[in-house]
Amino acid sequence: MTRPEPLEAYQWPASNERLAAAVGIDPRSIIRFDGNVAPAPPASARPAAIAAALADVNEYERGRYEPLRAAIAARHGLEIDQVALGAGSDEFIVLVARVFAAGGTIATVPATSYSMYRFAASMAGARIVDDPAAADLVFVCRPNNPTGELPDVPAVPGQLVIDEAYADYAGVDALGSIADGAIVLRTFSKAFGLAGARVGYALSDSERIAILSSRQAPLSVSSLSAALAMAALANPPDVGPQIAERERLTVRLGELGLSPVPSYTNFLYIPMEDPQRLVDAMLPYGVVLRAFAGGLRISVRDQVDDDQLLDALATELLGRDAVAAPVRHRRATAETRFAVRLRVPGEGRVLVQSGEGFYDHMLQQLAFHAGMDLRVEGVGDPETGDHHAVEDMMRTFGEALDRALGDRRGLTRYGEARVPMDEALAHAVVDLSGRATATLSIDPDPGMAAHALESLVQTARITLHVTATGTNAHHVAEAAFKAVGRALAQALVRDGGLVRSTKGSL
Ligand code: PMP
Repeated sequence: MTRPEPLEAYQWPASNERLAAAVGIDPRSIIRFDGNVAPAPPASARPAAIAAALADVNEYERGRYEPLRAAIAARHGLEIDQVALGAGSDEFIVLVARVFAAGGTIATVPATSYSMYRFAASMAGARIVDDPAAADLVFVCRPNNPTGELPDVPAVPGQLVIDEAYADYAGVDALGSIADGAIVLRTFSKAFGLAGARVGYALSDSERIAILSSRQAPLSVSSLSAALAMAALANPPDVGPQIAERERLTVRLGELGLSPVPSYTNFLYIPMEDPQRLVDAMLPYGVVLRAFAGGLRISVRDQVDDDQLLDALATELLGRDAVAAPVRHRRATAETRFAVRLRVPGEGRVLVQSGEGFYDHMLQQLAFHAGMDLRVEGVGDPETGDHHAVEDMMRTFGEALDRALGDRRGLTRYGEARVPMDEALAHAVVDLSGRATATLSIDPDPGMAAHALESLVQTARITLHVTATGTNAHHVAEAAFKAVGRALAQALVRDGGLVRSTKGSL
């Protein structure tokens, strides 16, 4: 028996743990600007979305996810038999190469494009050629990875495959080419925020879809992933903020002397010689970028992450003073998930989004008056009420605060504040003691105020006394959270280099 030679494999980027170990930093401080994915999962991606699929996980899905294919078809104004599902659009990139170019020729438009096309050619025993007019199969990457440009769709005699992985960010598509026999590839990995779920799809006329489907492994998409895709489709992403952030980042990079080319995607490409030098220089800051032959690629994340990248670049390129990076902390249970970025002290730049508006507002008040930079994002299980979300939000914030305080050396330790809000009056006294003790009287309590503060106390390992009274429960709670913030602001003031305890540790 002859044994086949291994082919050149797709080079997966290294894990956070491996990258962090290489430069001696905490893996939790790594930020990936190298994956072109959404900065956070969609709110729809939570246990409730997969509960029904889990209840049937012993069964094979029957009907090959008809509801999902129907929803995708409806989204694009097509028929269900014009949609095939796969484990990411990568599955189709490999498949179309095998089906339409086995032993033949493949061209890519633009010539410098997504590396997977080369691997697909290799797996299909096909050669890459320069001239699209002379190829059996032409991949058009539109918009293009890694350059972000939007190439024209050429008229070619071979099979046209238009990879629209990033089309949601471009606001234009080439679905019209399906009528001329093109195959369009789409994915839930980018704007929909489900890269880990591995769901992509091919769109074409029903004949080509039948050709592709008949050559796929049966059911390469799991029922859990299909459920996540279905939930995400019910609430399609708004790419507006991501596009605005891309434009902001473009301007800010320009101020550092870097010139990204105009992008139709969620990433920026900066032509340069020796981009690897900058990739290596950024890693100790926890910033992971990606080098290509002629340039550097940077995925757009969100303002907090992108500012951290800009700070690191300013330090490295312009010699500006290093800015302390926020503590990044995450917590996920079967009920909730939260991601916290916290800088102490900060400038009171605060955003809290758990879906529980009132307590988001309360935590925002606390952090603002404590002078922190805080960003909290997460989801709970609103069908059970606000309890889990509020409790876990505060616990996650408390864990992040505990990490941010480190060994608590050099902090004043104690703080006290009285804060009125109209008829309500709150008194808070805090001790960054390292021991979790809460003595709280909030009357009337709008529901979760005392429990929220108690959750914070437990994970932040602080002592907190609060008395708040009044007639309007909203006022009473708000005065209490503000008072805790003001008291924390005092306790967090730097006061020499001592651990403020005769025990020598807190
Ligand atoms: N096409 C392009 C142009 C891409 O950049 C990517 C992801 N890197 C993919 C397809 C594959 O996406 P997925 O397999 O996750 O759907």
